[in-house]
Amino acid sequence: MARKPFIAGNWKMNMTVESGKQLIAELKPLVKEAKCDIALCVPAILIPAMAKAVKGSKIKLGAQNVHFAENGAYTGEISAEMLKDYGVKYVIIGHSERRQYFGETDETVNKRTLTALKNGITPIVCVGETLSERENDETEKVLSRQLEIGLKDVEDVTKLVIAYEPVWAIGTGKTATDEQAQETIKFIRKKLGKLFGVKNANKVKIQYGGSMNAKNCKGLMAQPDIDGGLIGGASLKLDFATIVNYDK
Ligand code: PEP
Repeated sequence: MARKPFIAGNWKMNMTVESGKQLIAELKPLVKEAKCDIALCVPAILIPAMAKAVKGSKIKLGAQNVHFAENGAYTGEISAEMLKDYGVKYVIIGHSERRQYFGETDETVNKRTLTALKNGITPIVCVGETLSERENDETEKVLSRQLEIGLKDVEDVTKLVIAYEPVWAIGTGKTATDEQAQETIKFIRKKLGKLFGVKNANKVKIQYGGSMNAKNCKGLMAQPDIDGGLIGGASLKLDFATIVNYDK
């Protein structure tokens, strides 16, 4: 069965209750006819207000992180149960900004992924190489490590989404070419096949992320192994609707 495309926005640490509500109100009619699945991953504190804002639309709500413990003495953290309270369906795990600035490791990515899955929230697990890793021909080695450790003990890999986000392309305006993105995502699928079986790997949605925008989305989405996008900057504007409607 064909994989249904999935476009997710990552608001990062942007927007307020008012600006978020306004953007969603404007997006709603524009994405009504979209053929893909759609999510907006919003800052935790905006989740309650945005949960109301997306009601009655095709837009599902996502978070940008989840703690791996069910509850307890983890000041400042958010549990899967808290996210579920507001109908959160997706959670970004292991975004490169969290790896770079907040000490996220492949091991903590793995713990968060297992917790999200256990709680019925779909993890969007981010993997990707830095510029120096690409230049040193280490892309496949890095991705293999991120997948082997990050997805350890996952029972059903088809219940998660992978976002391939080359770090050098995030927020830089530098997009991977269609061919670069396709080739690397094909490698990721092959690796998933080795870890979880080819049949399962062929069911996993793999997004591209990294300066994807209203102009370059068509070419990227036309690639056979690219099933969607994780969109940062362009998800803060109505361009997000253009990306969601990439096939029109
Ligand atoms: C991201 O945050 O995952 C991302 C891809 O950002 P941008 O689209 O701004 O490069």
